[in-house]
Amino acid sequence: MPLVLVLLAIAALVALPFLSDLYTRPLRNEVVSVAEPGRNQVTRIHVALAVQGSALHDYIESRDTSLVRRFWAAMAEEDSALRALDGLADQMGRPARDRLNDLARQQDRWRAFAERDLVDTSAPSKGRAEAREQVFDDVLDAAARLDSTIDEAVRTKRQRIASAQRTQSRLALALGLIAIAAAFAVAWLGQRLQRATRDAESRRIALEHATEARARFVRGISHDLKNPLNAIDGHAQLLEDEVRGPISSDQRDSITRIRRSVRSVLSLIDDLLELSRVEAGQLAISLARTSLGDVVAETVEEHRAAAEATGHRMRLELAPEIPEVVTDEKRVRQVLGNLLSNAIKYTPGGGSIEIRIATRERHQRERGQWVAVDVRDSGPGIPAHMQESIFGEFARLAEHAARPGSGLGLAIARRIARLLGGDISVSNEADTGSCFTFWLPADARAHAARRGTDRLRGD
Ligand code: ADP
Repeated sequence: MPLVLVLLAIAALVALPFLSDLYTRPLRNEVVSVAEPGRNQVTRIHVALAVQGSALHDYIESRDTSLVRRFWAAMAEEDSALRALDGLADQMGRPARDRLNDLARQQDRWRAFAERDLVDTSAPSKGRAEAREQVFDDVLDAAARLDSTIDEAVRTKRQRIASAQRTQSRLALALGLIAIAAAFAVAWLGQRLQRATRDAESRRIALEHATEARARFVRGISHDLKNPLNAIDGHAQLLEDEVRGPISSDQRDSITRIRRSVRSVLSLIDDLLELSRVEAGQLAISLARTSLGDVVAETVEEHRAAAEATGHRMRLELAPEIPEVVTDEKRVRQVLGNLLSNAIKYTPGGGSIEIRIATRERHQRERGQWVAVDVRDSGPGIPAHMQESIFGEFARLAEHAARPGSGLGLAIARRIARLLGGDISVSNEADTGSCFTFWLPADARAHAARRGTDRLRGD
């Protein structure tokens, strides 16, 4: 915005003299080509009238005929000046035209009067001489009024020119000040932007360092925890397998509980490790053309035994034409495995789990073709208000808090899905439990584009 102001002010400063000239030039032209020549003609009329007055007066006194010629020569001079004025009067405005008409009328009266005095050679009466003087004064007055009207017109035009020039200088000053203020604002904003960019960059670096430090810490602590935990599990197994001697059924029961708890802690540590790797951008992704139908079918088969152990029916439905996609097969198995394990774990025994894979379109924001893997179960479903937060770290439904699990599985799965250019969404089918959908882009271009935006989003 200030930059626009600077540019506008500069443009206005450049345009100002032209605009001012556009306004004042016609006025100056009028003064030069109309008003001043008008005044010259009026001066000619004054001079001619003076000559006429004195020639007529002297003629009546002396009857010298050369004075008659002089009179008519002055009259011709005045007529010529009146004609010239007639050509200019319309451009000088209405008052000048009225005064000129008035002068022409008085002039006609004066001419008629003078003509009679030039023809009549008898000695003029005193009354006639007075009347002649009166007519002569009238014509002189008319000429003086025309003169002052033209004078006034010239003055008005000169005033308008001067006022336009004053306005131009004031505007130029104001625009100059605006341009300077806006330039300062641009410089100030530029500095602020630079500072904000530097701050954002140093925050990003600090965050990167913190994430890296946390990943290092998690790796270190995981290592230190996993070693003794594996030792505990190993020794518990020796006891369970009765390598150290026979055990009672109560002892076996306790050992089984110990081993289950140890495995649960070990799996939590694995999840934490995986999450810190994803966050630190250290999760290796190796892309290759993959037959997704086969990968899904194999992963489902790997989970079938676990599903059947809890009495679930598991059904896979493959659409006839699933395109090959560019993706990381190992990560696809990991994400899908998590969704299947959850469906098995959170669906009450004897339920049904359906896996369907097909190419579909997503909502408008995500153009292009997608391969969608639906994992639908007959469990309790995810309440609508939890369907987004369930993907957060350590998020679990209250009713599952007592079950083994860390609340990290979906958080990791979604991040991996996004690293693959896809996503995971969840919806509830009416009365049939939840339906988790694992989306993967069907063509490599969409894949590349999405991976680019994900990196920008810092996912
Ligand atoms: P975990 O299973 O280790 O708790 P997850 O991140 O995989 O962690 O899942 C988070 C929570 O989402 C679970 O604790 C559970 O409450 C809920 N959940 C996940 N999948 C299902 C499902 N298929 N049906 C009902 N609830 C589910």
